[in-house]
Amino acid sequence: MTSNSTTSNPGRRRFFATAGTGLGAAVIASALPRFAFADDLPHLTLDDPTAKALNYTEDASKAPAPHQAGQNCANCNFFHGGSDAYGPCDLFMGKSVSAKGWCSGYAKKA
Ligand code: SF4
Repeated sequence: MTSNSTTSNPGRRRFFATAGTGLGAAVIASALPRFAFADDLPHLTLDDPTAKALNYTEDASKAPAPHQAGQNCANCNFFHGGSDAYGPCDLFMGKSVSAKGWCSGYAKKA
């Protein structure tokens, strides 16, 4: 008698179905933290070395050159805060930046 061990063993099938579900959940969970917990990110401080190097300010109207009128984090391609007052920025991972801010890494949102 021949049998296919995968289809004839319900316990084994259940194991692989459960393992597959768990793996899928782990993959989804690993992708979530970057945006799902944006409200929990600490605000970027002005004394942060990278913030200083890029002339980050929380008030774009006071930003130094090469800042141009109308440029701010809310319309920067690297900002992921939507309409929130603070949001994640690709240049400052793990921190949130002010939507009204600006830094010299600014790139107009496409
Ligand atoms: S890269 Fe863009 S969103 Fe990030 S701090 Fe600079 S201007 Fe703001």
